[in-house]
Amino acid sequence: MTQFDPAPVVAALRSVTSPTRPLPLHEPVFAGREWDYVKDCLDTGWVSSVGAYVDRFERMLSQRAGDAHAVAVVNGTAALHVALMLAGVRTGDEVLVPALTFVATANAVAYCGALPHFVDSGPATLGLDPEALAAWLDETAERRDGACVNRRTGRRIAAVVPMHVFGHPVDMDGLAAVAGPRGIPIVEDAAESLGSLCRGRPTGGLGTIGTFSFNGNKIITAGGGGAIITADADLARRARHLTTTAKTAHPWAYEHDCVGFNYRLPNLNAALGCAQLEQLDGFIAAKRSLAAAYREALAGIPGVTFVDEPEGCRSIYWLNAVLVPDAAARDALLAATHAEGLLTRPAWGLMHRQPMYDGCPRAPLPVAESLADRLVCLPSGVTAGSGRSA
Ligand SMILES: *Cc1c(COP(=O)(O)O)cnc(C)c1O
Repeated sequence: MTQFDPAPVVAALRSVTSPTRPLPLHEPVFAGREWDYVKDCLDTGWVSSVGAYVDRFERMLSQRAGDAHAVAVVNGTAALHVALMLAGVRTGDEVLVPALTFVATANAVAYCGALPHFVDSGPATLGLDPEALAAWLDETAERRDGACVNRRTGRRIAAVVPMHVFGHPVDMDGLAAVAGPRGIPIVEDAAESLGSLCRGRPTGGLGTIGTFSFNGNKIITAGGGGAIITADADLARRARHLTTTAKTAHPWAYEHDCVGFNYRLPNLNAALGCAQLEQLDGFIAAKRSLAAAYREALAGIPGVTFVDEPEGCRSIYWLNAVLVPDAAARDALLAATHAEGLLTRPAWGLMHRQPMYDGCPRAPLPVAESLADRLVCLPSGVTAGSGRSA
């Protein structure tokens, strides 16, 4: 086998990226009304978990998610935790989760007392593969009293969590055709895909319930933050209740009707989120143009495949990525780019290889394992491409 040469890739990346070194994988841009809105919170004293910016942020998010209800919470992980609970996940259940994801997806399942059951990715989306999932469930699961049960473990399969990797949408129609007839609710982890479209429809509002993250590294940030998204008014009402200590409505009494959480997004964070959300379309345009520049610069270089948006989808390209032939090529590219101050990253360590999850049920994972060996994420911030010649 001929050895992979990272030099042409590094030259192509340099032709596209800003001359700033080191150039991080992602960084926030505050170019809108962030100062005004945050100052307004301080001036008026509304900094905590009640305030006009929280409501406004939820209204803006709702518009972004196809008019589904939005409940703003402290981070994307908390959003997933409550979304899974509301989808009906209970202690002792299993939840289908891609092995190729950020650890929060699996952790949220564990917080419910359930076990992640890892499934494979598709090569075109990098996310959960509906066809492989259908084959796996046909082999290992069955319907019992309306529920889907893992025949090997006897445990109920209570939900499936598609995650739109780097902003590239999972085939949600394909997934609905697998999950729907088996009675498995879909909890969408759209932490990386705010603004991405799957056959014209925004991700986050495509399942029973979905979630976003506004962590500092996401396309927009609230400092920290997340949201629960659902078209179901009753689920939205319960999400708001559970994330605000399950306090029953009363002018002064402190009464709570179940174990709730203090997960509500503070107004100060929502203020930042509103200012960021106003700039989302500009951020998406910048990211899509950076992706186009990378695609063009990398075309024709031997051994390198740019990860493009899936057919029928419009991705926000939260992170740009390339695939190289093998793990040795990946490591060579990581080293060569870091030597140039381009702070590239490999994929996340696969979930079934993390010590707390290595005993969990799992399907064969050949695609996820291959992708994890060969992926390199490129600097993808909104300004990462500024200064390029194009
Ligand atoms: C960022 C992220 C989360 C969690 O978001 P936090 O706001 O950091 O808790 C969950 N899932 C995925 C796939 C993510 O990328």
